[in-house]
Amino acid sequence: MTPAGIYLHIPFCARKCDYCDFYSVTDTGRQEAFQRALTAEIRRRAHSNWLVDSIYFGGGTPSLLAPPFFERLLAILGQAYRIQGGVEITLEANPGTVDFDRLAAYRAGGINRLNLGVQSFDDARLDFLGRVHSAAEARAAVAAARRAGFDNLGLDLIYGLPDQTVDAWQADLNQALAEHPEHLACYTLTYAPDTPLMRDRRSGGHVPAGEDQIAALFDTTSQVLCAAGFEHYEISNFAAGPQWRSRHNTKYWARAPYLGFGPSAHSFDAPRRSWNVADLETYIDRLDRGRLAEEGREVLDDAQEMVETVFLGLRQAAGIDLTAFALRFGKRLETRAAAVIEPLVAEGYLRLTPQRLTPTVKGMCLHDSISARLTGVL
Ligand code: SF4
Repeated sequence: MTPAGIYLHIPFCARKCDYCDFYSVTDTGRQEAFQRALTAEIRRRAHSNWLVDSIYFGGGTPSLLAPPFFERLLAILGQAYRIQGGVEITLEANPGTVDFDRLAAYRAGGINRLNLGVQSFDDARLDFLGRVHSAAEARAAVAAARRAGFDNLGLDLIYGLPDQTVDAWQADLNQALAEHPEHLACYTLTYAPDTPLMRDRRSGGHVPAGEDQIAALFDTTSQVLCAAGFEHYEISNFAAGPQWRSRHNTKYWARAPYLGFGPSAHSFDAPRRSWNVADLETYIDRLDRGRLAEEGREVLDDAQEMVETVFLGLRQAAGIDLTAFALRFGKRLETRAAAVIEPLVAEGYLRLTPQRLTPTVKGMCLHDSISARLTGVL
């Protein structure tokens, strides 16, 4: 049986960042009610036969909540699930919300992987993004995390900001490397509807980075980090070695099973996907009344599963396992899509071996259009 992951959505933030459309609220006054509801949801949805090898506290800003909150939840998860030895337990934290004492208590309470939302080491860019912390606070958080005993540390960065040159981004990457993280996630800035950033763009407050600029920054990311010894194992993710890949996030790309708890959290057990209501008060109210907080569900048909397999497979350097694809869908991808695959291989976007179809870095950069071309002929 494939071990499952568990995601817990902690929906509190000190302030909303200007680009963010994740579900969170800035009033932390409902922490206790939230914990009660989350506990009820975990117990009500317990799968005692599921083996769990990754637990992820995401958000939101989980590090706004004190360490005992997570200790209690981990104890409840341990009662409701079979937890594998060596389970990866990640907590997302924001610089400015953590100090040594808090980090040491997280570590002592069982959290063994810390993911810091640094986003940039340039204060002007942090200000543009509407982040609450400074670059100095990010460095202080990294130092405190190391002293607290975290030997598996990930940093998140954002690139593709207006007027961001390759040189400026390279400087940001070098500062991140100087902190010696085990993992780096580098995301392109996206413009979600109804965010302050999108409104500023629409009103002409700034001009977004162009496609060519973003492609150059993507290429720089891969070159700089791979030259520093990182493996580029997923479009946006880099690990200092295979043992430092995010076990939890790899489940999303591998379509492995995971359970999501908390408002807006998604769950997946192929071919079924479901998601919780994205509203804290409704979430608490439903759980308090003995119900669940599921808002929607879908069962994917074979065609949808095939599209997802291609789309998610080509996000990863490991690509698509062609034998597994044929066994699952009863057709050979490399035969059905040969007319699309061959020119993409010839142009250096894909690699084809008898076992796998994998993207090159150039192919990862054009992931969406390559996936669409492939799935269009299946
Ligand atoms: S801290 Fe994270 S979740 Fe909260 S608003 Fe900023 S980006 Fe969104």
